[in-house]
Amino acid sequence: MTFTDQVAIVTGGSRGIGQAICQVLAERGAKVIATARNAERVSAWAGDTPSVEDRIIPTSLDVTDREAVARVIDETATTHGKIDILVNNAGITRDGLLMSMEDDQFDDVVNTNLRAAFWTSRAVCRHMVRARHGRIINITSVSGLMGNPGQVNYSAAKAGLVGMTKSLAKEVAKRGVTCNAVAPGFIATDMTEVLPQKYQEQVKALIPMQRMGTAREVAEMVAFLASDGASYITGQVFVVDGGLYT
Ligand code: NAP
Repeated sequence: MTFTDQVAIVTGGSRGIGQAICQVLAERGAKVIATARNAERVSAWAGDTPSVEDRIIPTSLDVTDREAVARVIDETATTHGKIDILVNNAGITRDGLLMSMEDDQFDDVVNTNLRAAFWTSRAVCRHMVRARHGRIINITSVSGLMGNPGQVNYSAAKAGLVGMTKSLAKEVAKRGVTCNAVAPGFIATDMTEVLPQKYQEQVKALIPMQRMGTAREVAEMVAFLASDGASYITGQVFVVDGGLYT
């Protein structure tokens, strides 16, 4: 599986799963536009990873800024001549029970996890359809498939991403563009580190593999879906969760 001469854009590439996705794609030859609000953090990890540093392009982008999304994607297409892979990975949680959830708690999570993926996909599709080639991979969550108390905002956004994935897949299949989703379970990153230790132990006990997943284990699935090996796969959701959602 190589991505030599391919250009990828990854949102939320400064840490966690997004960082691992950038690393795996770059290790296999892709030039990766690694975006995040905090691009210095991308530069920092890339600087510590000499094997891929020259293929990582740290880029500042807040995915909730519609104009910035369109600008970064168009500039990427102009500078590099094409965009082969888009990974919509940027995401946040703002957990709370529905009855006490504020409007902005709901809106912020939907805007970052779902609306932003609409903007990036729309901007990228124009280039991919013209090129008759492209791979779009959306990072959803098992929360969007099975629900999770305290996450009506997050699971609604992630379920929305599943619907978007399937509809877009059908729109662009004839044009050589695939669109799939990856649904991680409980992965060790900053997002889960903030959860109370007791809750983490309770969740682990529910996972048949009895452990959290690694960001790398999610990134390997993304890399497969971005590869030529996945050329006949579109509109699907691939769960990477140690057996939690079965
Ligand atoms: P993380 O460690 O908290 O990292 C989140 C990433 O998203 C960071 O790179 C962050 O970068 C970026 N981000 C957040 N808001 C952004 C915005 N407005 N604009 C641009 N970038 C933004 O989270 P993670 O665990 O790696 O999660 C990555 C994805 O996997 C998310 O979509 C998450 O919902 C999903 N997921 C995670 C788990 C899990 O257990 N960890 C499970 C299922 C699904 P900056 O802060 O620098 O902008």
